[in-house]
Amino acid sequence: MSMVNYKSTCSYCGVGCGINVLKDKKGKISIQGDPEHPVNKGMLCSKGMNLHYVVEDKSDRLLHPQMRWGKSHPLEQVDWNTALDRASAVFKSIIKTHGPDSVAFYVSGQCLTEEYYLVNKLTKGFLKTNNVDTNSRLCMSSAVMAYIKTLGEDSVPIAYEDIEQADCFLVAGANPAWCHPIIWRRIEKQKEKHPDVKIIVVDPRITQSCSIADIHLQVHPGTDEVLFHALGRCLIEQGDIDLDFIAKHTDGFNAYKELVLKTTLEDAAQICGVSINDIQMAASFIGNARGFLTLWTMGLNQSADGVNKNLALIDLNLITGHIGKPGSGPFSLTGQPNAMGGREVGGMATLLASHRILSNPAHRNEVAKFWEVENISEKPGKTATQIFEGAEDGSIKAIWIICTNPLVSMPDARKIEAALKKARFVVVQDISDKNEAIPYADLVLPAAGWGEKEGTMTNSERRISHLSQFTSAPGEALPDAEILMRFAKKMGFHGFDFTNMAEVYAEYCAMTKGTNIDISGLDYDHLKKRGTIQWPFPNKTQGETRRLFTNKKFPTPNGRAQIQVSGPKNAFEKPSPEFPLVLTTGRIRDQWHTMTRTGKVNKLNKHLPKPFLEIHPENASERGISQGSTVLVSGNRGEVRLHAQITDKIKKGVVFLPMHWGKILQNDFARANNLTGNAIDPVSKQPDFKYSAVQVSLF
Ligand code: SF4
Repeated sequence: MSMVNYKSTCSYCGVGCGINVLKDKKGKISIQGDPEHPVNKGMLCSKGMNLHYVVEDKSDRLLHPQMRWGKSHPLEQVDWNTALDRASAVFKSIIKTHGPDSVAFYVSGQCLTEEYYLVNKLTKGFLKTNNVDTNSRLCMSSAVMAYIKTLGEDSVPIAYEDIEQADCFLVAGANPAWCHPIIWRRIEKQKEKHPDVKIIVVDPRITQSCSIADIHLQVHPGTDEVLFHALGRCLIEQGDIDLDFIAKHTDGFNAYKELVLKTTLEDAAQICGVSINDIQMAASFIGNARGFLTLWTMGLNQSADGVNKNLALIDLNLITGHIGKPGSGPFSLTGQPNAMGGREVGGMATLLASHRILSNPAHRNEVAKFWEVENISEKPGKTATQIFEGAEDGSIKAIWIICTNPLVSMPDARKIEAALKKARFVVVQDISDKNEAIPYADLVLPAAGWGEKEGTMTNSERRISHLSQFTSAPGEALPDAEILMRFAKKMGFHGFDFTNMAEVYAEYCAMTKGTNIDISGLDYDHLKKRGTIQWPFPNKTQGETRRLFTNKKFPTPNGRAQIQVSGPKNAFEKPSPEFPLVLTTGRIRDQWHTMTRTGKVNKLNKHLPKPFLEIHPENASERGISQGSTVLVSGNRGEVRLHAQITDKIKKGVVFLPMHWGKILQNDFARANNLTGNAIDPVSKQPDFKYSAVQVSLF
């Protein structure tokens, strides 16, 4: 039977694997990894391979707009006009009475770039508030701030092809074997081909990624920065730093050296809970490397001290000169498929489009001029946790949630429930009726999902992909971009008369002209013809840019990279006699975020079907806990009840909960974020999901 092949990109993690969606004459679809795609070369992980089940299963889909006339009224089906008339009337009234900063949008790293662009234009340009933030704040914002501080801009300098040229990998606070599997397959292949390649893993748990590690530094949670400084000290003492690169292309080395020499290796080893020998061996691997890649993700980012941890890691690339050359560089593994695309178009409360910064008056003027609006407010917008705090304290009256499930994914979930209860007007725009914010919504808007709309995304290596529409959305569901444009018109705003996504993208591309992420040479036609392109792409003659900073010029005021010493330390929630254990949370292999999509796929549910608590044998035995016992995990903010999984793969004193299960799937018994807290990094405003004090007891 003849098939039509639609090109797309996987909608789960930031690896950005290329997918061929094959559709037969009867409309049945099947999924294959795209063998010609430079990222995955035909490979897909279990999540990507099963995407067609998610597209075909419409059982949980929101099909019609729904509205309630009062908080105690039930949701009723309405037409789009009624829904958006109500939304615009309420927004106008709230803004008139309480000012523009009384409304907020909370969006998602799974939104397409065009959707992200439109929601930013709508809020910052026309609603006159910068209160638009994203769940990428929970994911990448510490890495963003560290890149800006060290390299001058939020720019991941590497290309995935550096994996095949590296001979030393330092993987910290990440389990890519489970969470970025196709990147990991490439690293595994590199190790198979070149057994001398060294892999160093830093993690309080023995994860699947440790299976090919040459050394696993099983640190105490929260001590990564001390470890990276100890590695820096060894490299300096061994003479394994690049003095020429440091002298010609960086600032800050003397202060860094003074800082790292203050802590002895003995003290660092004791603080981190690892041996001096292991630190020295890891440092010798780095010192002998011709190509050195550092890879990290949530273990460093989701921390009250996340920016400092990022800085200390990137410093290792800078002092060794391992940046802007083959096989080398700091490589933050993006969690979500389009977290980077969102940042590019200014999808955070503190950013503007094209890597412009909100606090820069010249940047605000450029954006205002481009959008033909009077000005952009200079007042920083509220970040993710601040938006919900604002709803709770009454300063945010209306909140519009797009493509994210905050009652499962935000820290201190009970606080988020209280905030949504208090908000005067809550809009939930989603594909699934499993979004747990729906019971709190005054307006529910059905959105189109992956494959039901067209757009672009950017993956972890700055690679922009075009995603084709290959099927229609069920019921009256509409693409998020269409919903935003209709709302903007109801509000009476000009500048939203786009007839298709190519026009939205063209406007954004024009806006990047002359910036460091210039893609003004790009358009949909070219992108579709080429498949994917790494930015910058200023014109078609120059083509795409594989690796950044090959000329050793950095986008800092003086063109030099900035080796950083840490900023002020933030306090973690200290364990106490009442709550003596440290809880860390994370992903499992076959589930994605809050399971509204992967939870529908039987094959994926078979891997680890139930939530569990990982606990060390000694901590379990002290509490009379046996394998599979039901345990109560309690902390300062709440509790969960689930089965114990006793394992010596976790460090003593630490327990682990997967992040995926929420109330709907487990009756509130397993929602990890009942226990996580309100600590945020002071610079990135990223919440800490990796360090909460808890107690565990037999239930
Ligand atoms: Fe999708 Fe990530 Fe798996 Fe690739 S590695 S198939 S992008 S989930």
